[in-house]
Amino acid sequence: MSQVFLNGHWLRPEEAAVSVFDRGFLFADGMYEVMPFYRGHVLLFAKHYARLERSLKALEIPNPYSEDEWLSICQTLAEQVPDANAIIYIQITRGAEYPRQHLPSPDLEPTVMATATHWTPPATTALPVRTELLEDIRWLRCDIKSISLLGNIMLKREASRLGGFEPVLHRAGRVTEGASCNYFIVKDEVVYTPPADELILGGVTRDWVIQVAKEAGLEVREEAFSVAELMSADECFLTSSTREVQPVGQIGDNQIGNGQIGPVTERIATAFRASRPYSLSEE
Ligand code: PLP
Repeated sequence: MSQVFLNGHWLRPEEAAVSVFDRGFLFADGMYEVMPFYRGHVLLFAKHYARLERSLKALEIPNPYSEDEWLSICQTLAEQVPDANAIIYIQITRGAEYPRQHLPSPDLEPTVMATATHWTPPATTALPVRTELLEDIRWLRCDIKSISLLGNIMLKREASRLGGFEPVLHRAGRVTEGASCNYFIVKDEVVYTPPADELILGGVTRDWVIQVAKEAGLEVREEAFSVAELMSADECFLTSSTREVQPVGQIGDNQIGNGQIGPVTERIATAFRASRPYSLSEE
């Protein structure tokens, strides 16, 4: 584990502490961001930074640092883990105040925290996983990367109890996303993913996969699709910063395609790996 960056200080993990009156602790009043570093090189920093700014703006929490300052903090953290292969976690809350009250006082000082955890970027396309269809019980501003993740955690636990790696969520039969990932399906060689509206978190990986797939000559449509269309898809995969492109072979008892990695998914996963800032094949 790296040092912890906390309110401008670099601390050992056991030294890093925040007030019990922090609004993040009391109300989940804050946001977060997660980004992958490959050998010290970040993939799509500008997109992660833009989402960080969007989330802060939506919550009316001031951004304490410039884009360059954030990049330097993240790079310093990444360099502290083996090979600088790191997942950087940033959390910003509205700050602490006593006594507890729902309506925050103006001009609170945000609490800013960032850490790096070592990870191993996948070298080949992961084997297909099983996911579970569940009703999306979350709020209607899933586009904000809020630390209020109770709905996501309840759904992830339920999927895990059912034997799934992740849930695939729907609202009234319309597929939204996972608890911590976005979904794609392939039908007749066309790639579909739900539109980046307020019902999903617009994943940075999702955006990049769309671009990479188009560059590979595939047709990609950002269109809503139904549970029935999901279940009868030729292929299905999920995306996130940590899992990149993860094939899905089964949803509940329903097999997708032949249950193996589909050819379009394999093409996209390979193109994605080739687009990373540091290719593992260079080793
Ligand atoms: N959707 C949700 C709800 C998430 O929590 C995440 C990532 O944590 C994603 C999608 C994928 O986002 P990204 O590709 O930026 O990691």
